[in-house]
Amino acid sequence: MNKGLEVARGKTKVLYEKPGQPDVLIVQALDNITAGVGARRNEIPGKGRVASKTSARVFRLLNLCGLPTHYLSGGEDDDDNEMLVRRCTMIPLEVVVRGVAAGSFVKRKPGVARGSVIVPRLVEFFFKDDANHDPLIEPDEIVARGLASPQEVGTMSEIARIVFEILAHAWRRNETLLVDLKIEFGRLIGAEGRGNLVIADVIDNDSWRIWPQGREELMLDKQMYRNLAEVTPADLERVLANYETVAEIVGTFPVARPGTVGLIADGPSAVAGLDPTIRALGQFGLTVLRRVVSSELMPGFVVQTAQQLDATFARLIYVASGPQLAAMLGGATPNPVFDASDADAESTATACAKALALDDTVLFGRVMLVQGHARSAILQADAQLNAPRPVPQGANLA
Ligand code: 5GP
Repeated sequence: MNKGLEVARGKTKVLYEKPGQPDVLIVQALDNITAGVGARRNEIPGKGRVASKTSARVFRLLNLCGLPTHYLSGGEDDDDNEMLVRRCTMIPLEVVVRGVAAGSFVKRKPGVARGSVIVPRLVEFFFKDDANHDPLIEPDEIVARGLASPQEVGTMSEIARIVFEILAHAWRRNETLLVDLKIEFGRLIGAEGRGNLVIADVIDNDSWRIWPQGREELMLDKQMYRNLAEVTPADLERVLANYETVAEIVGTFPVARPGTVGLIADGPSAVAGLDPTIRALGQFGLTVLRRVVSSELMPGFVVQTAQQLDATFARLIYVASGPQLAAMLGGATPNPVFDASDADAESTATACAKALALDDTVLFGRVMLVQGHARSAILQADAQLNAPRPVPQGANLA
């Protein structure tokens, strides 16, 4: 890719301007691998290509889930280890989420058994300062030093937790335990969304700990390189092979599995009543099909319709407009059936999305995000309700 001026250089990547596009940068992954804040450093030909692929695929998954990231395109084999990202100013923090006790956490907390599960997930911030080995920093200090606002600290924690759960889901589907994860954030510079927080930097096999089958000794991530007593060429080959394996698996993460929701109205008068459910399903990007039957007048047609749909669509969920049709469909199909009259449209749509999300990480992420938005809306409403009212002019405070 035609590159402009070099903007920044890290231990494993270089950032360039993109000629003619001031709001876009090129991130080029290098073949370097380092540990101990650069104390150990090796070059592994091919590592940059694999790192770039891994990062691009993780970002594509997060974008598909609806999370704000800086990733635009690129990073695949034909892209010269380069991905295009939206330009932002980086916040000098490493945001770490832990789901299992390991690494620096168990060193700091000798009372916690290595490998124990951490719920709720723990979010920690580390100040990016190589000279002082990236020290842990408390949220209050982040704000006091002007690194981020209290709202930004809250948003970074919430987003980091969601990213962790999405990637943990994707790894679980591959019988692998996501132990912990590091991400970084930036604020957009370009006109579109200026100042907004986005997940930035890279997220690759250097950014997490992953234990296949939950067994630490099978680790596939960079920790294996960190643990080497001394580094031999054979070790570096093994490291690259692990990184290749990870890139291949991560390639399956952004693949949404087709899923269909069949909305079945019990008679023509029930059709319009299912419209709110269609709208609510829209936020998950699910394919919807509609049919009209009659449990009262044409029970045979109900069964025939279900058989027809079952034979045509993989991963199909039914939503019936009422209890009588739901019961009839329930007996006619082995697929899940929900009764739209049981709950509001949002809840019915979410129940469909959750069922299909069990083996679809994109959908799982969308569900997490919708639930996250619902939680924020509740907290916002509560804060508004309890915000101190402005004192009326001329009021006597004495
Ligand atoms: P720990 O604090 O236990 O050493 O690391 C927690 C998580 O953050 C691990 O998944 C580790 O790989 C990641 N991590 C910590 N520091 C860095 C860093 O400087 N660069 C990268 N890429 N990941 C880091």
